[in-house]
Amino acid sequence: MKEIRFTPKQKEALASLGIADTEQLLHYYPYRYEKLNYLPYRQWQIDSQVIISGRVISRPKISYFQGRHSVIYFQMESEDNEFRISVFNRPWLKNLKLEQQITVIGRYEGSGKILALQVSNQPMEELLGIHPVYSLKDKITEKTFNKLMNQALVENAEEISDFVDEKYYGKYGYLPYYQALKQLHQPSNETMLAKALDTLKYDEFVRFNLLMLSRRKDNFPEDDKYQKLFNTDEVARFIKNLPFKLTDDQIQATREITIDLMAARQMSRLLQGDVGTGKTIVSFIAMYETVLAGQQAALMAPTEILTRQHYHNLCNIFANYSIKIGVLYSSQSAAERAEVLNGLADGSIQMVVGTHSLFQQDVEYHRLGLIITDEQHRFGVKQRAALAAKGNYCDILMMSATPIPRTLATTLYGDIDVSTITETPNKDKVIHTKLVKKNSFIPILDEIEEKLAQGNQMYVVCPSIEKSETSRNANEIYLNLKKYFSNRYSVDLLHGQLSAEQKTEVEQRFKNGEIDILVCTTVVEVGVDVKNANIMIIYNANRFGLSQLHQLRGRIGRGDREGYCYLLTDSDDEETLAKLQVIVDNTDGFKISYYDLQMRGPGDIMGFKQSGLPQFELGNVIDDNDILIRAKQDAAMMLKEISRYPKLLEYIETNRDNNIIRF
Ligand code: ADP
Ligand code: MG
Repeated sequence: MKEIRFTPKQKEALASLGIADTEQLLHYYPYRYEKLNYLPYRQWQIDSQVIISGRVISRPKISYFQGRHSVIYFQMESEDNEFRISVFNRPWLKNLKLEQQITVIGRYEGSGKILALQVSNQPMEELLGIHPVYSLKDKITEKTFNKLMNQALVENAEEISDFVDEKYYGKYGYLPYYQALKQLHQPSNETMLAKALDTLKYDEFVRFNLLMLSRRKDNFPEDDKYQKLFNTDEVARFIKNLPFKLTDDQIQATREITIDLMAARQMSRLLQGDVGTGKTIVSFIAMYETVLAGQQAALMAPTEILTRQHYHNLCNIFANYSIKIGVLYSSQSAAERAEVLNGLADGSIQMVVGTHSLFQQDVEYHRLGLIITDEQHRFGVKQRAALAAKGNYCDILMMSATPIPRTLATTLYGDIDVSTITETPNKDKVIHTKLVKKNSFIPILDEIEEKLAQGNQMYVVCPSIEKSETSRNANEIYLNLKKYFSNRYSVDLLHGQLSAEQKTEVEQRFKNGEIDILVCTTVVEVGVDVKNANIMIIYNANRFGLSQLHQLRGRIGRGDREGYCYLLTDSDDEETLAKLQVIVDNTDGFKISYYDLQMRGPGDIMGFKQSGLPQFELGNVIDDNDILIRAKQDAAMMLKEISRYPKLLEYIETNRDNNIIRF
């Protein structure tokens, strides 16, 4: 790669976009494209985007409003037609001269009127076609950015070679890698752009699959595990004594897991099911079976809140069994921790719940036989790696609330089995969701009052704890609500910056019903289960991703009463409102995660992290599924003759321990 020179100012601007060198510049992808086509006047439709060029035929008139805003009107002639142009907030255009040649891009308003978005001196030909739009956040002008990009492309025309062998690209008519990159940034036309995108997506998926497939071999030693022998009658008795009857799906999942635990081969299974489908109890049964077999079971949760909740539930459910249960999290006292570590090392503790601290170096297990990860996708690279290292002989069960098709799951997560729970235990429960176009709870005050009066508890979720310019914060809202409800309802605050004891105390009081209204951040997002909390208000709902909103909403309507969720937002952006409407209209997590994935354009990863699927820069695992499958098959072939591809081998060697899911 030939580095191009940036001025210090450019360097700084690029750095703030996360671009440190030429390579990163070339991989800073457009998040959308602007397409401009010329259409003759008689074909124009109202509200469509139009482009014309011609000459100015009236002196521009400017008027100001609301202080700093301005609008300019003038007339122009183009191909014997006269047009009336208006432009907002470009006061300098009042200097347009009569007879000046200009090109106007804008929205057609009918009767020869155009609301201009751009008035340019460039001839129309230069503006037609497809242009990339980058997210530059006002750090650097589009012109400079394009110039640098062009330089990077020109200087590296010879440097950038194909990653995948030509013979594979050739099969699908893909472009050579360099050409694809160039077309992505400087598309000649739509066909070429589409080809470029497909090429780069394929390339990206091939890389992913190479790592995935090359790893798989080492990961599942045939008989290298502590096999589990236990009496299934005892399991059946345990299930019979549960406070509820398992759903058919829960029973089926339990059966599948039980068979895996007893098998000689290591289990690697994904248990997926929407929020509230009751995955937890299924995992508890697996833990019980492991203990019956004389081994230890560990359950890893992504947050302390969830960890404590699981611990609490385990203690309850196994209260009448002589099973010793431990809990581990980072803000624990040293003495407590030491005691649990001892118990795990000598085997006296049989079940343990914890955050990622479960798999820190100093944690030793006596005979760890099962590792469960709850909310699997929330764990980072390192945590998963540490866990896999401890888990050589263990069965592994991953739980996720993002249901994805089985074939996709095996492609993304490797050679794993999948159990899916689709049935929800309390089928009839309804959650009403309402979009409130104001970032305030005044419009819904009456409804809230009524529901609180019926004895429901309420979550009030805010995007941030402290003051911020763009969103309401938990502290402020807490104070407001406390004042408003004064001694009628008790209001409290829960967020990530509280100490562990404070958190436990607040959670416990909320669970006991001593707190009516809990103002919180997204700490409640995953897994938290309080049956009487049936109201949720989400401030600045537009700031959350779709899957995240779905998760949040999954906290309510858990008992037998109906749930009420209010999404508050100030935004009047159509796209944002459409996004929130998806949550209003859907309660099915699968559909929602599907929308979530679909709504993201190339290069845009907003909200995607939350979906729980691996991230790709361009490829979309759902829409581009055919390319993904293709890439998977080809990667397998490439691996068979890997010695012929030193470049691929080097890639695998250097990225072996990187970011993809390990089990
Ligand atoms: P998730 O799949 O989102 O982790 P949970 O395991 O937290 O869901 O279960 C949601 C709620 O449903 C819990 O309160 C749990 O006790 C309850 N539950 C689970 N299974 C059943 C069942 N078969 N019948 C009734 N309630 C159930
Ligand atoms: Mg859960």
